[in-house]
Amino acid sequence: MKTVFDLLYPPRCPVCDGVRFSDEPVCCPPCREKLRFIDGPACLCCGRPVGSEDTEYCYDCAKRKRSYSGGLSLGVYEGALKDSVLRFKFSGREEYAGFYADCFTERYGKRLMRFHPDVILPVPMHVRKERKRGYNQAASFARELSERIGIPVSEDILFRTRYTSPQKELNDVARLQNLLKAFAVKEEALEAWKKDHPFQRVILADDIYTTGSTMEACASLLKRAGAEAVMPVTIAVAGGYSG
Ligand SMILES: [Zn+2]
Ligand SMILES: [Zn+2]
Repeated sequence: MKTVFDLLYPPRCPVCDGVRFSDEPVCCPPCREKLRFIDGPACLCCGRPVGSEDTEYCYDCAKRKRSYSGGLSLGVYEGALKDSVLRFKFSGREEYAGFYADCFTERYGKRLMRFHPDVILPVPMHVRKERKRGYNQAASFARELSERIGIPVSEDILFRTRYTSPQKELNDVARLQNLLKAFAVKEEALEAWKKDHPFQRVILADDIYTTGSTMEACASLLKRAGAEAVMPVTIAVAGGYSG
């Protein structure tokens, strides 16, 4: 049935972007078939698919010290999922966050809860960039996830202190150094949080996991601030290294 709300802001399929109505599934069933989620062996650190059950870590994670572990991601950043995430990020389709969170909870709900998380933090976006875009897609995903698993989200504790230049030309070490200066923990917000909540086990949510440098920068700051475990959760993970 069409409602006025449907006509004004029609919900859209996260895969084909076609208009849906409120009594239909969010994602067209044939479109849902096009999304291939990770269901084989995955890196114990970042959640990227790996070649076999005997491989614990992907190529990237095996050669680096990581401040996080137990990472989970919905799918590889390619095909229909990549197109969807690109619209989520750059074309104002913030509403897709609910669908991603549904899929995430369906697949990984038990594993998230087994981690015993205290809080979900989104990887922050610079305030100027967020104002321009209208939303931080990582925060939208984090909020939807929070609603489904009943773990509170904080958008104040971690923040971005400055724009970062495109980092493709930098090597690993330089990229991490650069990012460590780009994020910070807001002490007052953390203290305020700790008055009412524990802050030991943190879910760190982002849209796409690529090299892991952003996660590492945020996770190492959170550990310095007292977190004992940080679990990265992302909608998509860049493939390429199956280790
Ligand atoms: Zn569709
Ligand atoms: Zn990995």
